[in-house]
Amino acid sequence: MLVPVIGLEIHLQLKTKTKMFCACSAHEAAAPNANVCPVCTGQPGTLPVPNEQAIRFGIRMGLALNCAIAPHSKFDRKHYFYPDLPKAYQISQYDLPIAEKGFVMVGSHRIGITRAHLEEDAAKNLHGADGKTYVDFNRAGTPLIEMVTDPDFASPEEAKAFLQDLRLMARYLGVSDADMEKGQMRCDANVSLREVDDAGNIVGPKFHPKTEIKNINSFRNVERALQFELKRQAELWAAGSPPSVTTTRGWDDATQGTKEQRVKEAEGDYRYFPEPDIPALELAKIAEEERARMPELPAARRARFVDEYGLKADDAKQICEDPALSEFTEQVFSELGEWTKANGGATEKQKAANLVAGWLLSKLGGLLLERNVDVGSMKIDAENFAEFISLLASNKLSSSAGMTVLTEMLETGADPSDVMEAKRLGNIEDASVIAEIVDRVLGNNPEIVERYRAGKKELIQVLVGQVMKETEGAVDAKIARNMLLVKLES
Ligand SMILES: [Zn+2]
Repeated sequence: MLVPVIGLEIHLQLKTKTKMFCACSAHEAAAPNANVCPVCTGQPGTLPVPNEQAIRFGIRMGLALNCAIAPHSKFDRKHYFYPDLPKAYQISQYDLPIAEKGFVMVGSHRIGITRAHLEEDAAKNLHGADGKTYVDFNRAGTPLIEMVTDPDFASPEEAKAFLQDLRLMARYLGVSDADMEKGQMRCDANVSLREVDDAGNIVGPKFHPKTEIKNINSFRNVERALQFELKRQAELWAAGSPPSVTTTRGWDDATQGTKEQRVKEAEGDYRYFPEPDIPALELAKIAEEERARMPELPAARRARFVDEYGLKADDAKQICEDPALSEFTEQVFSELGEWTKANGGATEKQKAANLVAGWLLSKLGGLLLERNVDVGSMKIDAENFAEFISLLASNKLSSSAGMTVLTEMLETGADPSDVMEAKRLGNIEDASVIAEIVDRVLGNNPEIVERYRAGKKELIQVLVGQVMKETEGAVDAKIARNMLLVKLES
């Protein structure tokens, strides 16, 4: 039987203000070659100065990947010749990467992290309509961290899930926006097949010549490219001629397939040697500082939201997909803590958790989407949202009136009790008041009452609707319905 052997190499653009070795802005510029200086255009006689923030971000990422951070590290020159590389070498790290030997859990499967190292990005070649190639140096020298995994992935789906986790991790750490479509996260995948017997023991060589798929630019394409390549290789094996040399292929969106590029250069071709212009890096102290500053990571937060606040696993996962939303949720629960304590025990807590998830994800989520506003910049603060939830949980506010209150809160940033008072939206719980309204509705709709009594039972809905309209949703629809039934059937 053939099983996949998949490893990934990921380049992540670090979100620093300036480039890796010069003071140029690392942000996107409006015009080509706006963010350039003698250092990042590779002029002779210039000296690179490492960006401390980039080193800290790299260490933070290494810690999140459970890596050992190297106490002593250094930069090296990696030589190759290409128009987008003005020095004819890239400053990278060779034998002393800042981080190595880590792991990440994807579900219950442990994926080893071989290493993570810092380097500078190359410039960008732009192929003009006039047939000429132009070079934009804005990207030249921007900081990257390259992360290499062990060949541990069992399937294309698992590789995709890992990348999605990695993106979320980078966002929680604040080291990168990790948007694949914008090229802030780029992925190469190494893939081959190996033969195993029924007991799972490897038959023949452990590794066979692999294909390296270059620069895949979306999560979906990672999965597709790996599926395509596994199928292609399986066909070669079936035909009795498995791949005999390691090759490089590119993913082609148009044909939905991989295409052979060039034969991979051997390591020796790069003629690595230590960068003589940058002193060795002593990282023990800043590694300790960064360790102390590590925020809670998405996987830990998801688990805690379930354990501590009683959220359902799916809801916790959805909330934690967005760092700002997860932060907001945290604050809401912290505000709600007092309310649940004052109102008793586990049942109230569970009720509040269900309400928070439902109102945050579907109702508020929908309103924000309509308005194209995100949680980070909306007008509702955690304190007001928690109060809103407590009003719903204690039945002072019905869910239909709740929608009106929430919309108003979003528009104006107002306190929910103020909105309820101004719009007279408090729940009507007094049975005699509800009975009065029900009588009025029945009195105003004699024709509907007559048709109902003649057998058109579904008309009850119209009457419930009338009561809700009359009270602007301040009556529980179930109570209204029951009371209508009593009066109509008597
Ligand atoms: Zn520069």
